[in-house]
Amino acid sequence: DAQEKSLIKQVGGLEVEDKTDEAASAAEQSLFQKIIRKGLIESTHDLEIQRKDPKSPLFSVKSFEALNLKPQLLKGVYAMGFNAPSKIQESALPTLLADPPQNMIAQSQSGTGKTAAFVLAMLSRVDQSKNYPQVLCLSPTYELALQTGEVALKMSQFATDLSLRYAVRGEEIARGSNITDHIIIGTPGKVLDWGLKFRFFDLKKIKVFVLDEADVMIATQGHQDQSIRIQKQLSRECQILLFSATYDSTVMDFAENIVPNPVIIQLRREEETVSNISQYWVQCETPELKYTSIANIYGVITVGQAIIFCHTRKTASWLAEKLTKDGHTCALLSGELSVGDRIGVLDRFRDGKEKILITTNVLSRGIDVEQVTIVINYDLPVDHTNGKADCETYLHRIGRTGRFGKRGLAINLVDGEKSMEVLHDIESHFGKPIVKLDTEDVSEIE
Ligand code: ADP
Repeated sequence: DAQEKSLIKQVGGLEVEDKTDEAASAAEQSLFQKIIRKGLIESTHDLEIQRKDPKSPLFSVKSFEALNLKPQLLKGVYAMGFNAPSKIQESALPTLLADPPQNMIAQSQSGTGKTAAFVLAMLSRVDQSKNYPQVLCLSPTYELALQTGEVALKMSQFATDLSLRYAVRGEEIARGSNITDHIIIGTPGKVLDWGLKFRFFDLKKIKVFVLDEADVMIATQGHQDQSIRIQKQLSRECQILLFSATYDSTVMDFAENIVPNPVIIQLRREEETVSNISQYWVQCETPELKYTSIANIYGVITVGQAIIFCHTRKTASWLAEKLTKDGHTCALLSGELSVGDRIGVLDRFRDGKEKILITTNVLSRGIDVEQVTIVINYDLPVDHTNGKADCETYLHRIGRTGRFGKRGLAINLVDGEKSMEVLHDIESHFGKPIVKLDTEDVSEIE
């Protein structure tokens, strides 16, 4: 139980410090992904669309102009650098903006343009002449709510009379007040308090209800029930929209339970492969040799960025410290940082302030960043229950979706017989050779 765990933590203080970082929670992964990504993931798959009501027409658009948006919003969309709708937006936006409103369930992997789509719908539906909440968006966590809010603020930068309020921890309102903002973005517990317990706003007047990251939402204890309780208070005319990156049966059940008569839009995930990645390995028996390889690689990175994966926090911070001492800039992301600090580190890396990011497994599923051209496995990924090669994590670290023939580079540091075995297992698993590189040859890899 909790007490026992805390005791173990205290007693085994040092050991805990040297632990490998567990994979981040679903909410954190989703957050990191949002922060670190710069652009859209284009998809090679076709959309699948289902609707319960065969009478409802389905349109798709190839431009934002075709949507008859308010001019300030169209200007905002272009100011964000969006030229044309993404694949999912082409079909989702006309339905999201249709009159009479239609309910929607949309599923596609992170980075395909869902948030931008529903934020545009949220902003479009607001009647600025009415000073009460008309749009409500539920997010699973404080940080994710803020991310969505930032997109809304950017997109509405020219619609200055639109206002937004966060219903998240730390936000307080005096008893008896009425919220006059048009849009509320918040977490389920707080929204339930504000809407139902304190009646700071009228849930019956909500015209658009968005449930974002439904898969992450239902992974959090209590969020599912809270979301349903909120939904039950809405008027019959309210447009209900649900978005999810995954769509297994638990998400599907929840979605179809909470969204009546939806249009369902799904876009299959792009598979990651190692096919367009050049893979190398370098023999380095000691930490010093490993360090030398890394230092050599610094000389090679002229464009793009690199991520270095270490097995433990201790190695990661040792490496970061040593590199910094030797005058190489790098960023360190590890499990001991608070979520806020991790966001800071990722922000800087995404903006290119550091070329190299050193991390443990916290990030391995979260990264999906085009500008990362080199992935270095300082330690090869192993399953810590049996010490065998962890091919899935390897793929997550180095793999890319095969689009546009973007090439990447993976360098694996091998420090002994055991890791050589792991390397061989990985090589045969993916059926693609991993080429030996002498440390002195590092400059030849490009
Ligand atoms: P999701 O919600 O599916 O994760 P987002 O809406 O956050 O996807 O979009 C992913 C990234 O692509 C963001 O950086 C966003 O600014 C960008 N983006 C979204 N729509 C477009 C578009 N139509 N054109 C260009 N970039 C876009």
